[in-house]
Amino acid sequence: MNRELNFSGQSPILTLVATPIGNLQEFSPRAIEVLKECDFVAAEDTRNSGKLLSSFGIEKPFISCHEHNEEEASERIISLLKEGKKVCYMSDAGYPLISDPGGRLVARCLEHNVKVTVTSGPSAAINALVCSGLDSNHFYFEGFLPPKENERNEELRALSVRKETLIFYESPHRITRTLIAMAAVFGPRKAVIARELTKLHEEFIRGSLVELALEKEETLKGEMVIIVEGASSQKEEVTDNMIALALRDELEYERSGKEAVEVVAKNLGVKKNRVYSIYLRTFKTKVD
Ligand code: SAM
Repeated sequence: MNRELNFSGQSPILTLVATPIGNLQEFSPRAIEVLKECDFVAAEDTRNSGKLLSSFGIEKPFISCHEHNEEEASERIISLLKEGKKVCYMSDAGYPLISDPGGRLVARCLEHNVKVTVTSGPSAAINALVCSGLDSNHFYFEGFLPPKENERNEELRALSVRKETLIFYESPHRITRTLIAMAAVFGPRKAVIARELTKLHEEFIRGSLVELALEKEETLKGEMVIIVEGASSQKEEVTDNMIALALRDELEYERSGKEAVEVVAKNLGVKKNRVYSIYLRTFKTKVD
């Protein structure tokens, strides 16, 4: 048990700084003040953070602290904090630690009796959620799905029973494949793509997952969050469209027609002959 007020006492304190996710006017006056007053800025990418800070007239010595050096960097940051130096930590955009590095740094600080505070700011997940029109009282943040197809689909199946609104981050080069996989596993649920939040081309694309999966890939550029309606208590009907999308997903990973039909029938819990006839109708005249 340990109770200590953040802004009194002797213990050193690390300040996490949330940064804009697009629009620079969302950099809070408090964040700017804290950065101006600190001795060192630890950052995920010192070049990107350097550019951001220089546009606010701030120049500071940087410490690089990213996914691959977080343990060593944490030791250095903690010793500077214990020497009485003021250190901030920021990632490229939004909150550090939210699908970004910083988790091990915070854990090590707390182990060494270094306090932790944060200057608030935007997060893509929350911006997307509150504009989605879906239940925003109960939500589950997944962030990035695993990149490997098997692991991704396994994760989607595990998520498919959750009743909360689901929040995903995704990159433009994987968005269509991910939407197809989601449509295949989650079925005809409502979903929203929140694109380029707080930027000039901010856009919300709303529809069913199947509709979103069929959206032209070249129109899905930039940074995106996917929000998906949670599971309803009624069993979701597996539609022909879902089966066709699931088949397309499996075939894209170079499975044979026969394998794809078997995998989709098993994953969606539908009869093989139904999947087979959709396969023939959509992709081929005969299974190889
Ligand atoms: N730490 C960040 C936060 O608090 O939101 C998230 C960092 S994560 C590495 C980057 C992902 O966040 C992007 O691939 C995208 O899914 C989402 N993202 C970041 N900025 C965004 C924006 N302006 N509009 C939509 N999505 C955004």
